Amino acid sequence: MTTIENIIKLKNDLIRITIKEDTTAIKDAMKLKKETEEFYKNGDTYTNTKGVQPKYLNLLLKPFGNIFDSPVLLEIIPIGLNNMCHKNCERFCGLTTEFKPRSGYNITACKCGRLRCMEVHTVVENIQDGKLYDITADMCDEKNKWFVPFNKHIPFKLMLYFVGRKFDHYKTGERICRCSNWNIDEADRFEVDDLIKFYKKVCKTNFVFM
Ligand SMILES: [Zn+2]
Repeated sequence: MTTIENIIKLKNDLIRITIKEDTTAIKDAMKLKKETEEFYKNGDTYTNTKGVQPKYLNLLLKPFGNIFDSPVLLEIIPIGLNNMCHKNCERFCGLTTEFKPRSGYNITACKCGRLRCMEVHTVVENIQDGKLYDITADMCDEKNKWFVPFNKHIPFKLMLYFVGRKFDHYKTGERICRCSNWNIDEADRFEVDDLIKFYKKVCKTNFVFM
């Protein structure tokens, strides 16, 4: 059996445990998906996987130094509900000993590539070969996702515990985007230095944290 088949066979168990722990999960996920569709229908700047250009990818990640491993383009195996990546991965890894959660950021960009967006994200890692798999359905039905993992695993729970949702989104780019009315001054972003400081602090401490 391939690793992907191994993942897919746990889909029903993942849905079952999700509904058990969170009775409104499916309804909430559908609502969020619909809201996102409305949001983009109204002409808001849309970023997706396709917009990501390698030359801008390097530019985007350079300020972060060496806190990330190399970015990878992952195929999405959508067995988990949209917008629930951290929970999906945590629950999924409770069903099998073959995988562990891996947190980092997904990367998207606008059509012209000048607006780059990073959003905190969790995928699963095969313990034996280190390969990453994105098990969360995308709210815009994307089939692939650019993902950049922290080079030491920082559980999302730890980020939540110390800084809340502070490091959720990072947007940057050229002042003039050719495909939208996006304005860099209104960008939704954290300070890169703060994330680096947080990362170093966490890595220096020996946490036993699940
Ligand atoms: Zn653009």
